[in-house]
Amino acid sequence: RAISTQAAEALKTQPSQLFIDGKFVDAASGKKFDVLDPTTGEAVFQVAEADAADVDKAVKAARRAFDQGEWPRMSGKQRGKILYRLAELIEQHAEELAHIESLDNGKPVVMSKIADIPLSADHFRYFAGWADKLTGKTIPCDNVFGKFFAYTLHEPLGVVGQIIPWNFPLLMLAWKVAPALAAGNCVVLKPAEQTPLNALRFAQLCNEAGIPPGTINILPGFGPTAGGAICDHPGVDKLAFTGSTEIGKLIMAAGAKRVVPVTLELGGKSPLIVDKNVDVDKAVEDTHFALFFNHGQCCAAGSRTFVHADIYDEFVEKAAKRAAKRKVGDPFSDVEQGPQVDEDQLKKILGYIDVAQREGARLLTGGKQHGSKGYFVEPTVFADVTDEMTIAQEEIFGPVQSILKYHTTEEVIERANANCYGLASGIISNDINFINTVSRSLKAGTVWVNCYNVYESAVPFGGYKMSGIGRDKGAYALEHYTQTKAVYQALEPNQP
Ligand code: ADP
Repeated sequence: RAISTQAAEALKTQPSQLFIDGKFVDAASGKKFDVLDPTTGEAVFQVAEADAADVDKAVKAARRAFDQGEWPRMSGKQRGKILYRLAELIEQHAEELAHIESLDNGKPVVMSKIADIPLSADHFRYFAGWADKLTGKTIPCDNVFGKFFAYTLHEPLGVVGQIIPWNFPLLMLAWKVAPALAAGNCVVLKPAEQTPLNALRFAQLCNEAGIPPGTINILPGFGPTAGGAICDHPGVDKLAFTGSTEIGKLIMAAGAKRVVPVTLELGGKSPLIVDKNVDVDKAVEDTHFALFFNHGQCCAAGSRTFVHADIYDEFVEKAAKRAAKRKVGDPFSDVEQGPQVDEDQLKKILGYIDVAQREGARLLTGGKQHGSKGYFVEPTVFADVTDEMTIAQEEIFGPVQSILKYHTTEEVIERANANCYGLASGIISNDINFINTVSRSLKAGTVWVNCYNVYESAVPFGGYKMSGIGRDKGAYALEHYTQTKAVYQALEPNQP
């Protein structure tokens, strides 16, 4: 199989080492690991593998950069300028970043080009704009001891440890790194072991943009080793994580040991509710996109499609037809869906499909591995899914749509909320009262109304319940990367 010319070309200049203190260096152990192409399952590259010794070196570099370096001391205006430059560099290199993203992750290159890379650039641009607007308040205080005023400073936290997943490799990096840097923190980031390539290309761009050495450090490696060492390092002042709820609990426990703040963006089982008086064809298309976008590998995927009984039969038939038409194949060709990211995911998804059939869900289309090479899964649709079935409760993270029937508004609200997750949700309806009632009743961090998977840099994203703590994106994200200092100052008695 020939990868795209652009990907092959980009691999020739692909950094393969750890990025510490502004330089690319080998792992202390000398170890490397394979980067697999999910389309074939074959190794296409090798990168250095960080573990505790490298984490220690990176945290020390970040500490120096924070405690003595320029980044937290330069004006917000200057930091903003550098972050704008970084956004521009991402755009200038969009073509090769998009091809590397698709090679590494398996997503169609057209999606990398229209979504992952421009959204990442946009994110840095958005937070560049905040860098010189992080201001505090002035608070008058009079009491029996005299006259004072206080003012607040919004100061960076220090060295931030960030651990990200593989589903949107560069975009998840942008969500974490951009607000942290805008606020003046220094960063040690571990990309997912499945997708380390663009994080290292990003490191190159940081040098080119003029981010001082040590301000950002990128350590490819595995969860329990490199990830664990970041969580446990005494030099790390804050932890930020996107990934599974299972690992999120470990990160939170690690943060608790040293009382460092933790933000978590975790799993989901998001309900998408289709009302009765809607255009069924459009609803089918919207719910299809909500689940199948990025091969179902979205924490916010609309993975419980609740459809009103009045249109259920027509909807189910059309949803199956739509999924059966979905073009699956080589991400560098004209397709809607490439391979899942790795063999573990492939097996996990096929396992859920098996359980669903045993538990009595009605398989309408798909249900198997697509082809025999790589990690492709047939777009799969189950109807007659009930709330207690495993596929209605657990996150599948694959191209498997579960359709559930409902009769009343009260019933669907209750069922939609009866889940340990609360990341996202959606409503398809033409009835403003239905929309208002349901959107205010859903226990989820995001509600998409007559749309889905819209991600704007300025809008916060995060979970209720076991879907997480804190918010990425928007001004809300900055609250997690700053801490507030109150300074009291005495006034002379006669001063106003
Ligand atoms: P997924 O199951 O989708 O791969 P994970 O939550 O396992 O999601 O992984 C998300 C990120 O967390 C990855 O970068 C992974 O390496 C990291 N990770 C996994 N286990 C640990 C751990 N014990 N400590 C710290 N990070 C971890």
